[in-house]
Amino acid sequence: MRILVTNYRLAGTTVGMAKKSVLDLDASGKRVLVRCDFNVPLEGSRITDDRRITEALPTIERLRSQGAVVILASHLGRPKGVDPALSLAPVAARLSELLGVTVPLLVDSVGESTKATVLAAKPGDVLLLENVRFHPEEEANDPAFAKKLAELADVYVNDAFGTAHRAHASTEGVAHILPGYAGLLILKEIEHLGQAVGNPKRPFVAIMGGSKVKDKIALIDNLLPKVDSLLIGGGMTYTFLKAQGLEIGKSILDSSSLDYARKLLQEYPDKIHLATDVVASDAFSADANTKVVPVTEIPADQEGLDIGPETAARFADIIENAGTVLWNGPVGVFELKPFQAGTLSVAKAMAVATGKGAITIVGGGDSAAAVEIFGYADQMTHVSTGGGASLEFLEGKVLPGIAALQDA
Ligand code: AMP
Repeated sequence: MRILVTNYRLAGTTVGMAKKSVLDLDASGKRVLVRCDFNVPLEGSRITDDRRITEALPTIERLRSQGAVVILASHLGRPKGVDPALSLAPVAARLSELLGVTVPLLVDSVGESTKATVLAAKPGDVLLLENVRFHPEEEANDPAFAKKLAELADVYVNDAFGTAHRAHASTEGVAHILPGYAGLLILKEIEHLGQAVGNPKRPFVAIMGGSKVKDKIALIDNLLPKVDSLLIGGGMTYTFLKAQGLEIGKSILDSSSLDYARKLLQEYPDKIHLATDVVASDAFSADANTKVVPVTEIPADQEGLDIGPETAARFADIIENAGTVLWNGPVGVFELKPFQAGTLSVAKAMAVATGKGAITIVGGGDSAAAVEIFGYADQMTHVSTGGGASLEFLEGKVLPGIAALQDA
């Protein structure tokens, strides 16, 4: 099957490259190096969310059932050299439970003993290399390190969507040596995110939040021409309000983006929806004093930390009547209880939209965490496993980890 490494440009044209995937691969009798994104959240050695592991299972199971030796590689966190706290041992244990076979952790990852273990492995065996970032050559995309990884296998599969925006040795370099295929998770991510921006069922509604406008400029530029409505929440709100001449008190302001915000409001007055009320607070804390105020009355000594109930209801109405909903960034400081309601309301409205037949897509990172916490993840069409990667994909950028795979 072909997948489109989609790069949807401003003008709306699709510049795509078809890539080979595991659906084109007969892996029987082959040693397959599979780059996964097992960068899971840990408390000590306890995995607090194993979604990135469970999402990798379809590719692993497929290769096993074909009789491949499956060699898994991943990073975890940002180690500076070898760091036992960032060992993939908890992932090996969880994988063993989920697959029902022992998945050994090969601690010297590209050393001689790993090579020997790989050569002795039998069809259907699954092995996990220790954290590839224990080697600084990984992030440097060192060709010699990529070659060592490549020597372990006959073919390469990239299923690490969350790391596909990074050109590292195990995500990109190795694909220049071994024939590279996309895994089923990457296939799924590209299909959902690509369809949302490339061929959306209308009305197409995007919700954008997060703290700063400047981090989202490329995303806004790529999406605004395509969407029917853009709902803006979160810390970004206040730069837009300020651009309209309103007083925003101590709310977060991205002054370098004021002109940009002004320009957008002039160009797209009907598409952009801003908050009309906010939750104003005297402190950035869970026990602050808060009050709902219209955006025209934010007190000088307070900051807005969530959209207000009137805005939440208006946003929910737009979301519930959409054909496609794409969400990137919380609309309030959802990590603190007094400022959760807006983000919760977006999640709920998206679940309603899904029930009415809409395609609902949650970008990775904070919004994905929010739908997990609020218990709505399984009511979305798709929750991306990639934060930075989904953002870059939606910005229309080419992801190097996918670009390096074989053309179909
Ligand atoms: P980002 O990484 O830019 O997507 O921003 C996500 C962060 O924005 C989350 O940690 C939220 O707590 C934060 N955030 C959301 N709304 C606001 C707000 N009104 N003021 C300050 N930070 C906010």
